[in-house]
Amino acid sequence: MARPSAAPAQVGGAWLDGLGRPLRDLRISVTDRCNFRCSYCMPKEVFDKDYRFLPQGQLLSFEEMARVARILVAHGVQKIRLTGGEPLLRKNLERLVEMLAALRTPEGRPVDLTLTTNGSLLARKARSLRDAGLQRVTVSLDAMDDTIFRRMNDVDFPVADVLEGIAAAEAAGLGPIKVNMVVKRGTNDQEALPMARHFREHHGGRVVLRFIEFMDVGATNGWRMAEVVPSAELRDRIAAIYPLHALSPAQVGETAERWGYDDGHGEVGFISSVTQAFCGDCNRLRLSTEGQLYLCLFAGQGHDLRSLLRDPAGLDDAAIADSVGALWQVRRDRYSELRARLPTEPGQAPRKRVEMSYIGG
Ligand code: SAM
Ligand code: SF4
Ligand code: SF4
Repeated sequence: MARPSAAPAQVGGAWLDGLGRPLRDLRISVTDRCNFRCSYCMPKEVFDKDYRFLPQGQLLSFEEMARVARILVAHGVQKIRLTGGEPLLRKNLERLVEMLAALRTPEGRPVDLTLTTNGSLLARKARSLRDAGLQRVTVSLDAMDDTIFRRMNDVDFPVADVLEGIAAAEAAGLGPIKVNMVVKRGTNDQEALPMARHFREHHGGRVVLRFIEFMDVGATNGWRMAEVVPSAELRDRIAAIYPLHALSPAQVGETAERWGYDDGHGEVGFISSVTQAFCGDCNRLRLSTEGQLYLCLFAGQGHDLRSLLRDPAGLDDAAIADSVGALWQVRRDRYSELRARLPTEPGQAPRKRVEMSYIGG
């Protein structure tokens, strides 16, 4: 990773990148493994028994992850999301949660600490995660229809168990809960309305459903524009049954556009990274399980932080901070904004791109 040449520009203590965007959001992938094989993320044909996941010795320890987080919180990070792979597969994750929950921003505030999960282990773990200091969770669920969901996760996992996980998270106080639904035309788009209905009716507006456009992340999911359902189309479909009004963003850099139900039954979100890119205020930095830093979800390569963390000379926090600051300073990534100008169909432009299960959502 590059050594610094000059101190990075800052605003309110946060580093600014080459397009003037502050670093605010750190996503830490705690494992590249998963017990699901969602076709849009880890298709079975690629992630099969011969697939080589990262060996144990290459993973960052919780202490290393917490150290990176501590350094970055001192330089503007206000929000940390644990992800993967399936983060709840990483043993004793509660220990990492505890370390991160103890962090304070320079203003003395705790960080906004959250986690994205497929929900399969949530019923068992919600209470201990909450006790460790986790504030809230995002749960992925792609259909209410059991047959469709089992087909999409491709390991025959039932909807009922994910719903049980959501209920356990709610009971443990891990809210507000968000539910992410990736929508693929012809696969589960007919499930958008049943999903909206369920979360309006069963959770009294306390669970926020967000529709995510199927993205061309990674190089294995056979992405085709024809399978993307634009958020505007979905929103029209929902609004035809449950009228909606636009809400203002809760935070700068928020990925979802928020819409409220006119009848007061909570809200829904639309994450439109294909049809309406939101790179303009992207404040996210990603740390992979083995300690590579990624400046963009669509980056071709990461920057090796692990070797700095394990430098035999024993680099101090200031030296690590300077290196990451120098990297952030030259960041000019805005893949989604440029996507429209790139070839989009598989086969046209094979290029190296990191997998979502490796880098985290
Ligand atoms: N395993 C956890 C889960 O599924 O929630 C966390 C990791 S997963 C990579 C994070 C998020 O990325 C999930 O909400 C998932 O639906 C989303 N995702 C994965 N592949 C995607 C794709 N091709 N397009 C859009 N979203 C995707
Ligand atoms: Fe696993 Fe999440 Fe990817 Fe599905 S989206 S395969 S649950 S990492
Ligand atoms: Fe951020 Fe890259 Fe996504 Fe744009 S494409 S919003 S820069 S992660």
